[in-house]
Amino acid sequence: MNDRVLYETHSHTELCKHAQGSVKDYAMRAEERGFKGHTVTCHNPLPWGWSPQVRMFEEQFQEYLDMIHEVREAFAGHLDILTGMEFDYVPELEDYLLQQVTWADFDYCLGSIHPQTDYYLEKYKVDDEVENRRIYFDLIAKIAESDLFDCVSHPDLIKNFMPDVWDIDQAMTDIIPMLDRVAATGCAMELNTSGIHKKIAEMNPGSEILREMQNRDIPVVIGSDAHIPNRVGAQWEEALDMLESVGYTEINYFIQRQRTAVAISDARNSLLTVHV
Ligand SMILES: [Zn+2]
Ligand SMILES: [Zn+2]
Repeated sequence: MNDRVLYETHSHTELCKHAQGSVKDYAMRAEERGFKGHTVTCHNPLPWGWSPQVRMFEEQFQEYLDMIHEVREAFAGHLDILTGMEFDYVPELEDYLLQQVTWADFDYCLGSIHPQTDYYLEKYKVDDEVENRRIYFDLIAKIAESDLFDCVSHPDLIKNFMPDVWDIDQAMTDIIPMLDRVAATGCAMELNTSGIHKKIAEMNPGSEILREMQNRDIPVVIGSDAHIPNRVGAQWEEALDMLESVGYTEINYFIQRQRTAVAISDARNSLLTVHV
């Protein structure tokens, strides 16, 4: 019997419209993979009909909580089911988001920038790629500075929307000030394993950024960003190796918005191989 010490921290459900499977499907996979618990983090509803094709409607929020509650009861005693949400951060919506993070007794609030969404393209996208990059990383710092969230999700996602011009050394001009600003807030940052399926096939963030995060003692949270159940716990061993190679010794998860650290060695020993 393994010592279960880890929580999956980032996963969606069919309520997000571009993900498949129910909370139960994801929870079953989390249990098989050796997790102690599983955090559901569907995309937040947004006002004004913003990108409705990738998120629940405001009217579905109670349905979301009921879904999580039902599976929590069903898995009681063998897997903790936590209530989280992935919030799209928009500076103009801070008042709305300030309310929204209190809509439920959240365990974990992720703050995200999705540069592919219609409102982002309309409000922030510019033709000049250098300026585009600068705007994105400024917004990433603002996620942490808003003090609304526990963790910043996939903090270099922009690289997949400018793969031809992406140059990590040049990007550091914007990334270093962003990391200094995030470090000053105490907010955690995510190592999102789903990046290996994106245009630039590496995790978000890549190892150069992780090293700079470690230099600043920024707490790190691994998340799979599962949009299908069998992505729960995917590539966590590689993520742990990457973190160790840049000097991290611990990873983190959140319950009741409080951070708990787990030694990387314990984390690695707790993961189970899933046979398909
Ligand atoms: Zn999604
Ligand atoms: Zn996301």
